[in-house]
Amino acid sequence: MRRLVIVSNRVGDPECEVTGGLTVCILDGLRERGGMWFGWNGEIVDPEDGIGVSCTRCGNVILVTMPLTEEDYQEYYLGFCNGALWPVHHYRLDLARFTQENSDAYRRVNERFAEALAPLLTRDDIIWVHDYHLIPLAAALWARGARNRIGFFLHIPFPSPDILMAMPEHEWLMNAITRYDVIGFQTKTDQANFCRFVCEHMGGEMVRGEVLRVAGNTLLAAVFPAGIDVDSFAAMAATPEAEERIEWLHRCGEARVNIIGVDRLDYTKGLPERLRSFKRLLELYPQNCKAVTLMQIAPPTREEVKAYADIRRELEALSGEINGQFGDFDWTPVRYVHRNVPRNTLAALFRGSQVGLVTPLRDGMNLVAKEYIAAQDKANPGVLVLSRFAGAAEDLEEALIVNPYDADDVAHAMQRAIEMPREERRARHAALLSRVRQHNAGNWMGSFLRALDAPAHPLAA
Ligand code: ADP
Repeated sequence: MRRLVIVSNRVGDPECEVTGGLTVCILDGLRERGGMWFGWNGEIVDPEDGIGVSCTRCGNVILVTMPLTEEDYQEYYLGFCNGALWPVHHYRLDLARFTQENSDAYRRVNERFAEALAPLLTRDDIIWVHDYHLIPLAAALWARGARNRIGFFLHIPFPSPDILMAMPEHEWLMNAITRYDVIGFQTKTDQANFCRFVCEHMGGEMVRGEVLRVAGNTLLAAVFPAGIDVDSFAAMAATPEAEERIEWLHRCGEARVNIIGVDRLDYTKGLPERLRSFKRLLELYPQNCKAVTLMQIAPPTREEVKAYADIRRELEALSGEINGQFGDFDWTPVRYVHRNVPRNTLAALFRGSQVGLVTPLRDGMNLVAKEYIAAQDKANPGVLVLSRFAGAAEDLEEALIVNPYDADDVAHAMQRAIEMPREERRARHAALLSRVRQHNAGNWMGSFLRALDAPAHPLAA
């Protein structure tokens, strides 16, 4: 089996307990076949102190990391990745900021990563690059003589061509991305948007199935929906400690029904819209007053970016407003928790909540939706209310699918979930669980690596 080299903006920490499902899955895959994980170590250093690589060995896995300088962090990470690529890919052109310094920094950091990685590669390695921080890495490695099979997985959405074209650097980025041998997307919509761009704006053509030919390169552009480790998440939700937590939640909670939302505090997650929908629920169905609580867990993220500070203020104001208008001595309608929570606590909270509310305005996949399903008690499961703009909605058809921009639609779906008879809940949950199992983390990784391991497409010659 060929050695696997994973490259991502942040390198997973094998020691870290709160590490999410995909990181654990990648680490397991690396341990199984042996390999290297290359990326940023999260440190920011003075350039005078040197920005060389550090290596740590964990069994048959080598973690190779590099720091960034303050300038890189501001311009590459916050500026270009999170200030331009992230909003454009999530259809938020209004929040995107484009500057030459930031796009130069993006090129610079990718070149530096390639410069450090290229000498560490052997001819037979297969390389799997992750996400929007590293789109030009394959081209930069090629320029340094690497002739390995290189794959790329985009964790976030791929926007429709007219959105992408608003980005000043889009032609250069699209030329760079087509240097990969395999490109993985979360959904059929993302893949179709990508293929449309290549065929309509770059003179490319679909030569067979998911194989594209463009500018002399042949590449596979396919869908690999990301998933979770269902059994381990389900097990976390059903331990005696989890049972205790759920009992505590019900004992100390003032309400009969708990609705839960768990999202990074990101403007793509539709949190203000969600609170407005909850407010509509209380207005349209006043019988829910003193009977229903929304627990929103939203840990801080990218706080240095202005749009994130704005969303935090808006959310705090909205939850205060709802609690002020509807709350009473014995009932707080919205419980807002602004911090990280251990994964086993999250699993218990999911299981103890009758409604899982996952209503992003746009999301690559949304693993919280899958975790909520995995955590449920099969005999008496809760109901998932899911945005049609989450990648997960392409697959999780038996959820109550809503338009997150339409507060009344979401409010009606919440009410339907609250009132849903047990038989219907069980039938929907069984169907959803089998879909979550089918597209689990192991299958995501396995199918991508099979595509990457396969010999180059015959048309590539
Ligand atoms: P994104 O990758 O955009 O943040 P996902 O829903 O795909 O969205 O993944 C989020 C992951 O982070 C999930 O595994 C979820 O359980 C975890 N997570 C979200 N909020 C918290 C929190 N407050 N504490 C701990 N983990 C969290």
